[in-house]
Amino acid sequence: MLFDFHTHSFLSDGVLSPVELIRRAQVAGYGVIAVTDHAGPGNLAHVLDQLRRDCEEVNRHWPILALPGVELTHVPPATIPDLARRARAAGALVVAVHGETVVEPVPPGTNRAAVDSEDVDVLAHPGLLDPADAARAAARGCFLEVSGRRGHAFTNGHVVRTALAAGARLLLDSDAHAPGDLLSEAFARHVLLGAALPEGELPTVLEANPRSLLERVLPGSVDRLPADPGRR
Ligand SMILES: [Zn+2]
Ligand SMILES: [Zn+2]
Repeated sequence: MLFDFHTHSFLSDGVLSPVELIRRAQVAGYGVIAVTDHAGPGNLAHVLDQLRRDCEEVNRHWPILALPGVELTHVPPATIPDLARRARAAGALVVAVHGETVVEPVPPGTNRAAVDSEDVDVLAHPGLLDPADAARAAARGCFLEVSGRRGHAFTNGHVVRTALAAGARLLLDSDAHAPGDLLSEAFARHVLLGAALPEGELPTVLEANPRSLLERVLPGSVDRLPADPGRR
């Protein structure tokens, strides 16, 4: 079963509606998808209001668990703790932060603010992750992302090495903006092995860590996952 805690709909810069994105993920064999549109102070409530309603409805009908979320993106690092708290209060089940990827001028200090903020679940594409930030992520239980997205993925090898050395938990996310970006089982394995994740760690990153994040954000949901996701 595929888990993916980082995707985008047209509520930010993705191409599909949230519902179509979820449907496509279900057909691709996903068991869980979080839709985490880019958000800042102004659009956070609006994005979550729409995503909550869409996820609620499709969860009643389709064998996939869809989670409303946000990716706090290019916001001043000092605002991250408060925005993450507001996102949680507005119904975000997954709060991600757009980390210091090497392909964009993300404000320095974003990674630190994310790993230290109580309400942040995932630090996405952390770029040249500092070992001290990896250690703080490990201590607080913030998940660190290996990115399936072109560009952000340039530093995946560094992220894997630094996170493993610190004992921080890793996730693989697609960061999909279009249907062709969604994960497959083979692609997920290839990205992780290509980042030099030891093969023995694959079940941890692809199954155990996602289940543990899910259990934290939505207790009891792991037991209710669709037994047989995929085309119906
Ligand atoms: Zn991002
Ligand atoms: Zn993203």
